[in-house]
Amino acid sequence: MNNNSAEIDDLAGRVAGVVLLPGQDGYAEECAMYNPAVANNPAVVVGAAGPADVQAALAFAKAHDLAVAIMNTGHTSAVADDRTLLITTRRMDEVVIDPSARRARVGAGVRWQQVVDAAAPHGLAPLNGSSPLVGVVGYTLGGGLSATMGRKFGWSSDHVTALDVVTADGTLRHADAETEPELFWALRGSKSNLGVVTAIEFELFPVTRLYGGVLIFPGDQAEAVLRAYADLTAQAPDELTTSIAFMRLPDVPVFPEPLRGTFTVHVRVSFLGSADDANTLLKPLRAAAPVVIDTVADMPYTDFAAIYSDPESPAPFAESTLSLPPLTPDLVTALIEAIGPQADVPANIIELRHLGGALHDTPANAGAAGLREAEFVLWVVTVGVPEQTAPAVHWMGELFTGLKPWALEGKHLNFIGQEDLGPEAVRAAYPAQTYDRLARAKAAYDPTNVFHLNHNIVPSVTDAEGR
Ligand SMILES: Cc1cc2nc3c(=O)[nH]c(=O)nc-3n(C[C@H](O)[C@H](O)[C@H](O)COP(=O)(O)OP(=O)(O)OC[C@H]3O[C@@H](n4cnc5c(N)ncnc54)[C@H](O)[C@@H]3O)c2cc1C
Repeated sequence: MNNNSAEIDDLAGRVAGVVLLPGQDGYAEECAMYNPAVANNPAVVVGAAGPADVQAALAFAKAHDLAVAIMNTGHTSAVADDRTLLITTRRMDEVVIDPSARRARVGAGVRWQQVVDAAAPHGLAPLNGSSPLVGVVGYTLGGGLSATMGRKFGWSSDHVTALDVVTADGTLRHADAETEPELFWALRGSKSNLGVVTAIEFELFPVTRLYGGVLIFPGDQAEAVLRAYADLTAQAPDELTTSIAFMRLPDVPVFPEPLRGTFTVHVRVSFLGSADDANTLLKPLRAAAPVVIDTVADMPYTDFAAIYSDPESPAPFAESTLSLPPLTPDLVTALIEAIGPQADVPANIIELRHLGGALHDTPANAGAAGLREAEFVLWVVTVGVPEQTAPAVHWMGELFTGLKPWALEGKHLNFIGQEDLGPEAVRAAYPAQTYDRLARAKAAYDPTNVFHLNHNIVPSVTDAEGR
């Protein structure tokens, strides 16, 4: 881009938010991602305060032949370079709760804790994930696997009632089940492929308390714990949403003191029911091995973040994911061999999130995301800059090759890592028919692939067989 200050001034004059160029005060903060190891250096960043700012930014990008990237929290955004205009959304931070309709309407810059806190006084709660800091829109456009109520109510993207989005041609569109239904379907599973979502409206649920927390076991008891966890999940009611994580945490401050530098197994529990029922369900698990820490107890929904205690400060990491069936004895044996106490494992967090329950349902207004056959999502995370995580990333590939006999079609889009961004990997993240339908939606709403800095769906009016 020619650094034409008159044109930048003109853009700044039309934008209610901010327009910043490299080197200007506030540019580095505006572009900072969750992963501090990533250099995010767009040619220009527009901190959009509303849809009109997004439209001005898109017109500018088109005039200067710039790619467009979209970022809220920067948890997983693609990296912008000097051929890119970055739109940040955090100024669109309005949260409106409609208690009688049990709905929330929030701006594109809102994070989950804000919605949880705003809904709680009305006796309501959203289908948020494990982290209070993750952005509502990015999470929901990837399906949204709720760590608290997923098995009870299903994918959060299936509970979206409307979206406002500025598409590549600069048009502000409202999409719901009646208006632009194909766009409404496709947005809920294509992340930033179809445009910049400026507001989202979704259902809330009458939940005020949880019986939740974490059970932490010594790593050398991993096999006994995983077998007990397999039994628990084989018969769990939909009210019980859990995960199990093999945590080999490096000795770095981002992790809490007693767990740093140790190998432990964590079972994260969220139960929508009584303490007695929860304790009956958890009894065999608690008896399977000595419990080092047990925080599972009644809690207000607003404290949900205590279940996972996800890191609050930014950290560099690499991630990857796989979909798996129920934990049959042979799969447990394979997992213990690959990630148990005797295995040489360079990854820090290997987590199995339990699906099933309502996550297997396909409601009438379902979106494009959602693993409706898989029973578990495997999520592997390694902390560090790319030079440090390279061995772990290589090892993840070997782990997934070893688990191939069990691997199922499709991936949870929110856990796809940078290594999964190639065209074949993106295609493999979806069932074939879903990908082909999304590629058609992409051809309709972003035919020139303006939004390609993502897990990119290539615009196409024909499927893989050319039909
Ligand atoms: C600690 C942690 C815990 C997590 N827990 C869960 C969980 O429980 N369940 C789950 O499903 N996922 C979970 N995730 C994954 C998370 O949902 C994804 O990383 C998600 O993409 C984050 O969205 P964001 O807006 O915070 O990040 P960003 O990096 O800002 O955005 C992520 C993606 O969404 C796109 N995007 C963001 N805003 C818009 C918009 N307005 N319009 C169009 N595209 C947009 C971006 O372009 C980018 O591709 C977790 C992630 C972390 C780091």
